[in-house]
Amino acid sequence: MSKEEKDSCACTQKLLDALRAAKPKRDMLKKVTCQKCGKVFWTNMDDNLCFDCGKN
Ligand SMILES: [Zn+2]
Repeated sequence: MSKEEKDSCACTQKLLDALRAAKPKRDMLKKVTCQKCGKVFWTNMDDNLCFDCGKN
């Protein structure tokens, strides 16, 4: 194996690790309809109010 092949291999592995680490966060997001104003929004928290209605 040449030195160049080794370097590109390590680089790809790093990228894959980063993608794998970032994915679970996205999967936790869910689509919720606000019970107050009916707006559809994405959240990773367990509530039924959008950010505007949740403030008050
Ligand atoms: Zn709302």
